[in-house]
Amino acid sequence: MKKFEIAVIPGDGIGKEVVPAALTVLNTAAEVHGGIRFDFTEFPWSCDYYLKHGQMMPDDGLQILQGFDAIFLGAVGNPRLVPDHISLWGLLIKIRREFEQVINIRPAKCFKGLCSPLVNPNDFDLIVVRENSEGEYSEVGGRIHRGEDELAIQNAVFTRKGTERAMRYAFELAQKRRGHVTSATKSNGIFHSMPFWDEVFNEVKQDYPDVATASIHIDALAAFFVTRPQMFDVIVASNLFGDILTDLGGAIMGSIGIAPAANINLNGKYPSMFEPVHGSAPDIYGKGIANPIGQIWTAKMMLDHFGEEELGNKILKVIEEVTEAGVKTPDMGGSASTREVTGEICRRLKAL
Ligand code: ATP
Ligand code: MG
Repeated sequence: MKKFEIAVIPGDGIGKEVVPAALTVLNTAAEVHGGIRFDFTEFPWSCDYYLKHGQMMPDDGLQILQGFDAIFLGAVGNPRLVPDHISLWGLLIKIRREFEQVINIRPAKCFKGLCSPLVNPNDFDLIVVRENSEGEYSEVGGRIHRGEDELAIQNAVFTRKGTERAMRYAFELAQKRRGHVTSATKSNGIFHSMPFWDEVFNEVKQDYPDVATASIHIDALAAFFVTRPQMFDVIVASNLFGDILTDLGGAIMGSIGIAPAANINLNGKYPSMFEPVHGSAPDIYGKGIANPIGQIWTAKMMLDHFGEEELGNKILKVIEEVTEAGVKTPDMGGSASTREVTGEICRRLKAL
């Protein structure tokens, strides 16, 4: 019996609705599959916790998390009660940084039965590997002068280590998929960092002769997401480019409530963290209509991370059956509840 110890942080808002839904699916999957057990330990760290204790998690929070095989997180943030910079930096970003989760993986795929703006939604099935620790989101720079001479300088930081590890991750992922990596660049407009990015990409690709490659400027690439999605398998992108591309991916899939993500620690020193792309959605919290698919697909990514791809793929297959059958929450154009979608996924998993 394989056993996985998982730290569960439902967090705020609909995180408290979709996380239990995903845990139900994971338990059902384990039952059906046999030979696997999940031990979930739940932590109430959230904005509510902050209001009681003055911090998002206890002082030894990171030490506690360190012992787990993975962290499964819902959403963090309730800007009406706690400013975002406190809630995000006090939990989410703290974990990402301290646990060296340097890669952010975001798959995007159009499921049957969902409404996408694409002409041929079936062609849209890709993964963005986003560099998660440096690049354009750096703290290097500053502002000087006032008035008409005022000026702001923002430096992007691209290290060889950081760039190369994101690219290698993309190539290894592509080897398990359709064998193609696209590099998102902009070396015709950005003077230093992007030519460097291209150089590293051209070096790294020599080590993966079985993987086909393309290097495309980010502006054209964004347009091709919509007009020629069949050209993409794995895309490797800097922190900013990856961020923008994956929101576009969510829109193309039909709802942000579907999009999954994983923050991966590569050196094995710390656990990785699995959290969907969407936030706490305070506007729909408590109504029982949150789309659980993003969180459930995120659970599938956690299974992949554990090497349980076969089981993960079963979950993905069942998700698509359910959308195709029209069991959809309102954001997907249906009228089903979180509970109904989850129940239908579990029922079909058992019937596999
Ligand atoms: P954050 O800053 O945490 O990303 P946000 O307010 O920018 O939060 P979301 O919380 O993701 O973004 O919400 C954006 C919109 O998408 C909201 O209208 C929300 O109701 C909707 N939404 C997000 N996730 C879901 C979901 N799982 N099911 C249904 N609707 C969702
Ligand atoms: Mg947001």
